[in-house]
Amino acid sequence: MFLTNIQNDFPVLSRKVNGHRIVYLDSAASSLKPRQVIDEIHDFYLNHYSNVYRAVHTLSSESTERVEKARNIIASFLNVNPEEIIFTSGTTMSLNTIVESMLRCGYLRKDDTVLVTAVEHHANFVPWVRLSKLHGFKVEFIMPSGRFGTLEEKDFLKYKNSSPKIVSVTGHSNVTGQVVNLKMVRNLFPKSIFIVDGAQLIPHDKIDVKDLDIDFLAFSAHKMLGPSGVGVLFGKRKFLEEMEPFMYGGEMIDKVGFEDVSFNELPYKFEAGTPNIAGIVGFGEAIKYLENLDFGKIKKHIYDLTNYALERLKQLNGIEIYGPTDQRHLGIISFNLEGIHPHDVAHLLDEHFGVAVRSGHHCAQPLMTVLKNESKLSLFPNGTCRASFYIYNTKEDIEIFVEGLKKIKEWFDVQ
Ligand code: PMP
Repeated sequence: MFLTNIQNDFPVLSRKVNGHRIVYLDSAASSLKPRQVIDEIHDFYLNHYSNVYRAVHTLSSESTERVEKARNIIASFLNVNPEEIIFTSGTTMSLNTIVESMLRCGYLRKDDTVLVTAVEHHANFVPWVRLSKLHGFKVEFIMPSGRFGTLEEKDFLKYKNSSPKIVSVTGHSNVTGQVVNLKMVRNLFPKSIFIVDGAQLIPHDKIDVKDLDIDFLAFSAHKMLGPSGVGVLFGKRKFLEEMEPFMYGGEMIDKVGFEDVSFNELPYKFEAGTPNIAGIVGFGEAIKYLENLDFGKIKKHIYDLTNYALERLKQLNGIEIYGPTDQRHLGIISFNLEGIHPHDVAHLLDEHFGVAVRSGHHCAQPLMTVLKNESKLSLFPNGTCRASFYIYNTKEDIEIFVEGLKKIKEWFDVQ
């Protein structure tokens, strides 16, 4: 059963691109925004906006109340406490904050081992690799042994006895579309600090952070109907209390003297400076919108679209589709057409069919080397085309996309 009649909530869907109705298949990069979120932000700027916390006047109190309301919405959405929700600028900042803060408080020391996978987005890869060089901790990489970048349980099992201090994994690959079994990972490493990059997972699935025993979770508003420049860092209270902030400045302090400073209580200790106030308010509204639709229905809708698209794409000759072939494949399809560069495919889909897909390495260069090793293409182009689906996509979108690919193959005379 597909979600229906929600397209009207997304004003940009009524515009044309190169003379065609837009078919937006790039939600893994950033989702479209519904009118409800746009209106909320608009109304907030028109009637309420002021800086938060630092004043006693009415507009400031109203703004503070709205930011705290959004924090509460997000906390109950994840089944955690509001003090454990820290607003950041996005997943990238959340992950960098975790690494830097753990170094500063001594959770992460020279010779400690950190386990990450080879399928990570650079946001959960570069901070570990780069800071390991500066601070002397070790990073081990779990290589996916499954089909085209698919992580299997046995890949994690290999490291079971290495007692990693930290295990940091994506919950959902932004390239292969694989949903990772977080329960399995947690059970294999019960003593490690467990960090989850939820940038792709959280827009698709309502998870219970307590039940999965996640220690830190990072995600972005802009991939789930909210504005850009807002993200969340969830951390368990016991860790956040001990951790040293990564950014210093206003609002995060308690007392400031010439000799020393003390920090504010959670979550403000980690929120230095003026936050993206209207963005946070808009994010709260986005979560409300998604919860009203019901995450069970959202996930089903996206699974059905993914399966439908996979079936249609498999009928094409000379297509290589990456990632798992089972129910772990959700919402994101990366592929290449033999003999045609992914940038050409993406460009032609946009120009001739109004279809927006992404092409390139998707900020996952290590994974591209894994795909390249397994590829049967005559020349792997060090990147892929990526179509990704969200709540507003339809079967008709997929038809237009697949018919577009067929035409492009004809134009290149690659049958
Ligand atoms: N991790 C994953 C899995 C992602 O898909 C992305 C965004 N492409 C990020 C991290 C980074 O998110 P942001 O750019 O919002 O910080």
